[in-house]
Amino acid sequence: MEKTLVILKPCTIQRNLVGEILNRFERKGLRLAGIKMMQLTDEVLSEHYAHLSDKPFFQRVKDSMMVCPVIVCCYEGVDAIQTVRTLAGPTNGRKAAPGTIRGDYSMSFQENIVHASDSAEAAEVELKRFFKPEEIFDYNQATFGFLYANDEF
Ligand code: ADP
Repeated sequence: MEKTLVILKPCTIQRNLVGEILNRFERKGLRLAGIKMMQLTDEVLSEHYAHLSDKPFFQRVKDSMMVCPVIVCCYEGVDAIQTVRTLAGPTNGRKAAPGTIRGDYSMSFQENIVHASDSAEAAEVELKRFFKPEEIFDYNQATFGFLYANDEF
């Protein structure tokens, strides 16, 4: 089982899409292991988006993530990291296919609704960045036996 980080970006909060986006992950069958609202800072975003530090839009992307609080989530499931990336769709909302979150809700490269960890290494670092250990919960999900065949996990 994998855990992955999802951030509902300020555009999602401002557009009152929180319930709809959480619903996508819920319906898919991902287990919600952690969730909280927080105000991001330039410092944490410089770390989180370090791979974009040489891009002309680096500061603009960071600014857009500080417009208001975000909602950070930890989801768990078999192959959760890639599954959540597939649900999110490609970065540019205009190019993302209908049916994906970005394809259904975003018209923008930047204002693209969610962040999702892109690898096991990133998920580990990012979950530690945004959650304290005691904020991640390993409870049993009653529907588990109906989400997977018993050789899938
Ligand atoms: P992703 O979020 O799909 O993993 P990246 O890690 O490459 O994509 O970029 C992080 C975020 O920076 C994107 O989600 C998007 O908000 C913003 N971004 C990336 N590339 C661009 C771009 N060319 N123009 C505007 N914003 C961008």
